[in-house]
Amino acid sequence: MPQRQGPICVIGAGIIGASAALHLVESGARDVIVIDAGEPLSGTTPAGAGFVARFGADHNRRLGAGTIPLQEYGLAFYQSLHESGVDLEYGSNGNLVLARTPTMLDTLADGILGHPQVAAGTRRLDADGVAALMLGAVDPASVAGGVYMPEGIQLTTALAQQELLTRLADAGVHFHWNTPATGVRMVDGSVTGVETNSGTIDASTVVFAAGAWNQALLESVDRRLPLIAMVATRFVSEPAGLSPLMPTVQCLELHLWLRELRGAFSWGGSFAYRLLSALEDDGLEFEYGRPVSPTLLEVQYSYQKNVAEVFPALSELSTVETIQGVPVYTVDGGLYIGAVPGFEGLWALAGDSESGITHGPGMGKLVAQLIMDETPFADPAPFRLDRVDPAAYPDEASMVASMAEDRIAKAAQLN
Ligand SMILES: Cc1cc2nc3c(=O)[nH]c(=O)nc-3n(C[C@H](O)[C@H](O)[C@H](O)COP(=O)(O)OP(=O)(O)OC[C@H]3O[C@@H](n4cnc5c(N)ncnc54)[C@H](O)[C@@H]3O)c2cc1C
Repeated sequence: MPQRQGPICVIGAGIIGASAALHLVESGARDVIVIDAGEPLSGTTPAGAGFVARFGADHNRRLGAGTIPLQEYGLAFYQSLHESGVDLEYGSNGNLVLARTPTMLDTLADGILGHPQVAAGTRRLDADGVAALMLGAVDPASVAGGVYMPEGIQLTTALAQQELLTRLADAGVHFHWNTPATGVRMVDGSVTGVETNSGTIDASTVVFAAGAWNQALLESVDRRLPLIAMVATRFVSEPAGLSPLMPTVQCLELHLWLRELRGAFSWGGSFAYRLLSALEDDGLEFEYGRPVSPTLLEVQYSYQKNVAEVFPALSELSTVETIQGVPVYTVDGGLYIGAVPGFEGLWALAGDSESGITHGPGMGKLVAQLIMDETPFADPAPFRLDRVDPAAYPDEASMVASMAEDRIAKAAQLN
């Protein structure tokens, strides 16, 4: 039974909101409504590269070990969609962190293999081992080796999001598209509805799952979280004959992530990420949907030669698709999943830390269990909204300063 009787409204139909709605239905919620400011698939999710792995056990990330159960849930969730016959362009080839120098290889191997929750089968590779695993895509002379994490998977994010939306529609969930929420109606500190640009929708429970727009919703109820919205860029090359058995790849020295997609390279990295606020100061116009920043596209085009040092085929290839989105970082590198302090019936899923494809299923399940008063499958404490005092971060500069150690901070020229 839900903690509160009455309709439950999820604001945002990206992978995170769709997952929350699906898990609410699966937990027995009868009256679930999803509203979205745009059309289906118009937000950040389809820009996602589709890496899903146990990133909490990868010392490159600041996600924290508390996120590992969510990652394991995400891996199992997508695997079961795939095994039930849904076409996700799913691959289960593992995840490889490349090192270009012996020093970096030692650092990676110590950090990943030394992690107390390292997955079985995780192993260090030399340059020839990398070349063999990458099935011809990497020049072995350009790398010292890597660390291979076998559990990682890859999928096409828009296909996963679409499948969730289809399942919700089949379950009788009501959608309101092109309906921006503008606030929450409250009576005596208790949620009674969602205010939108076309009237108020009755609801006794509301979940903010609006990605890059969560801050605006929180401000509508006089709350704030330290959240850092960034624009990130993904390119898809023309077909390159890559093997579909290639693992997903990350390379810290190149600030790169890269994978095979229909034989082509799908790639990007923090070299072509920038603060949304900085781009807006430079004239970027962005309300809902996905941004188009020609500045960042230029940065990525000119960076391609660096990536081609390791992936030689890329030097000759043109780009057939560019797509940008707005992941949102947190000051401690974690995720927000929980009650919005001070209100009955208000919940938030925020601060995806550029990992919402990986965590979306688990974030949705966890918030559904909390709302439905079920025993949570993972400890919710690390995700509480009140774990960080927003007053300690009065402006974006103070939030960005907290990211100094984050793997993306330097390449995105945040400091
Ligand atoms: C280039 C790139 C690569 C990435 N690669 C990966 C990866 O490999 N693995 C991984 O795990 N993650 C990755 N990510 C991150 C991942 O894509 C995001 O974390 C995830 O898509 C966020 O999902 P979401 O549901 O929060 O956001 P969205 O998909 O943006 O959904 C939010 C929805 O809320 C709606 N909305 C906003 N405001 C309102 C309002 N006021 N009222 C109603 N609706 C509203 C929007 O219209 C939108 O549809 C990547 C991101 C990018 C950009």
